[in-house]
Amino acid sequence: MSTRTIAITDTLHRYLVDRTLNEPPILADLREETRVLPGAGMQISPEQGQFMRLLVELIGARRCIEIGVFTGYSSTCVALALPEDGTLIACDINSDTTAIARRYWEKAGIANKIRLELRPANETLGALIAQGQGGQFDFAFIDADKGASRDYYEQCLTLLRRGGLVAIDNALWNGRVADPAMKDVDTVAIRELTAKVTRDVRVSSSLVPIGDGLLLARKV
Ligand code: SAH
Ligand code: CA
Repeated sequence: MSTRTIAITDTLHRYLVDRTLNEPPILADLREETRVLPGAGMQISPEQGQFMRLLVELIGARRCIEIGVFTGYSSTCVALALPEDGTLIACDINSDTTAIARRYWEKAGIANKIRLELRPANETLGALIAQGQGGQFDFAFIDADKGASRDYYEQCLTLLRRGGLVAIDNALWNGRVADPAMKDVDTVAIRELTAKVTRDVRVSSSLVPIGDGLLLARKV
């Protein structure tokens, strides 16, 4: 029976993690260090990290953008999957959590691929567009302040080449998107952006129910 996505029980999730996860030790260490920090729940899951590494490899990405670095788990996944001359522009506003990220980028030998931009992401993206870098990027991961995701999506679409991929995290928002009683600004913003992307003729899209839901949109 495969007319719908299977529900992931704890047992099934354990199977998935035990039998299919190839997490490099450095990423396991970073996850362990982050686990005790406030906001640890914002980090992508290891199986999602593995999927994102595969995506970056599949599209042969060389130039990438990340919006929302936190302690660096997702950026490390992306940068590990890039070729030696690949680059990741990493956007965040928190110098404390990104200091942890920087430490792991060094340890993983990928610091040379990553440029951290410590200012509001819309400024970094706006500057790239103003510099004429539209159409020059292969992959963008959006995972920061949810109310601004719609603006980041538009800026990223401008920056991506045709065939480039944007991935938007937390599209399932711990199930809240499906509960009509949930009308807080973040939930509404996520629901509306998902509807917009789904209707958007500029992309082909799919909401992949991995982690907290990863909305993928390929620029046509
Ligand atoms: N992708 C990370 C988690 C990101 S958590 C991981 O998987 O580990 C969200 C991050 O967005 C936080 O680190 C926060 O500092 C950052 N953020 C919030 N508002 C921002 C803004 N306006 N511009 C850039 N980053 C922002
Ligand atoms: Ca997230």
